[in-house]
Amino acid sequence: MRIWLSRPHMGEKEQEYVSEAFADNFIAPAGPQLEGFERAMEEYLGESVHCLGVASGSAALHLALHMCDPNPGDEVWVSSMTFAGGVFPILYAGATPVFFDLDEASWTVDPELLADALGKASQAAKLPKAIVPADLYGQSCDIDALEAIAARYEVPLVIDSAESAGASCRARKAGTGGEMAILSFNGNKIITTGGGGMLVSRNAARIEKARFLSTQAREPAPHYEHKEYGFNYRLSNVSAAIGLGQLAVLDKRVAARRRIFKRYARLLGDLPGIAFMPEPQWSYSTHWLTTLTIDPAQSGGVTRENLRRALAEHEIESRPLWKPMHLQPLFQGTRYVGRGFDERLFRDGLCLPSGSDLTDVEQDEVIGIVRAFFRA
Ligand SMILES: *Cc1c(COP(=O)(O)O)cnc(C)c1O
Repeated sequence: MRIWLSRPHMGEKEQEYVSEAFADNFIAPAGPQLEGFERAMEEYLGESVHCLGVASGSAALHLALHMCDPNPGDEVWVSSMTFAGGVFPILYAGATPVFFDLDEASWTVDPELLADALGKASQAAKLPKAIVPADLYGQSCDIDALEAIAARYEVPLVIDSAESAGASCRARKAGTGGEMAILSFNGNKIITTGGGGMLVSRNAARIEKARFLSTQAREPAPHYEHKEYGFNYRLSNVSAAIGLGQLAVLDKRVAARRRIFKRYARLLGDLPGIAFMPEPQWSYSTHWLTTLTIDPAQSGGVTRENLRRALAEHEIESRPLWKPMHLQPLFQGTRYVGRGFDERLFRDGLCLPSGSDLTDVEQDEVIGIVRAFFRA
């Protein structure tokens, strides 16, 4: 049987909630399950945040950036090492991305690099319209440090927490940071609605405006009246019903993925040249995906790519880390601020099967093949 990187993992309640939505015929982008999912997420995240369920994480980010009101030529600063869904919305909003390198201690945006660049941009009177740090593989960025820097220059911080639902930064949950934050419930994420996302903010007015924009910007009137354009981005009530069930097991899913990570680290950590993604003291990562790097100077001929191929021959799915955006053909010539740490991660980094339904037997098979490949 094929071993997958990360598969949807349903709990016990999802079908029941979907049945309730069917029983009451709430098959629309509105309904009690959608409201229930939003309230439950607000309670889970704490800090009196407000939540808006939308069709995807990308849609949430598009709404957030749209509300930052960029003009053509305005910059949005973003992590280079992230998924395209965290960058394309910058293009939808008509802004220009600038890509930032990561901090080696957390693999999230380097606060010092950002502070330095903001200082220079401020002097040149060319501050970005928004900063979008991406949480990576289950690890939150340093919310407190980034908020302090963004506040100093009064630039809105929109944190992309699509990969870190269930994680924490000190006492704060991922998804609560910045002026706004986004979550994703795509099929490969730690919890899924079969496609969906959420916009989160402590600023109620932001969420109210986003709700209006996400439902086609309809002005209050008996007929259809429009003063500005909107989007059809609201989350389906049926999807939200799945989300209600998934949110109830989120902490269990986090515990399972952390256990998987620790087992890999314990049983593979002695191999030459292998290092696992670090977890700073302030971070409680979900370890959404277990990621490691293989230093080709120490590994005796093993590289990320030949190991990936060896696993694939045994029907085991693994994947290189995200290819940094500044290396993508689409973004050739786009400004990059950094020292190439993210390039090294892409060259040497591999994600191992990490689904919360991965059994010990399956994990042992992965571990056995990796160890055998290092001996060969
Ligand atoms: C998954 C992901 C997104 C996009 O979320 P979708 O729900 O797939 O649109 C955005 N940013 C990052 C970092 C992601 O991993």
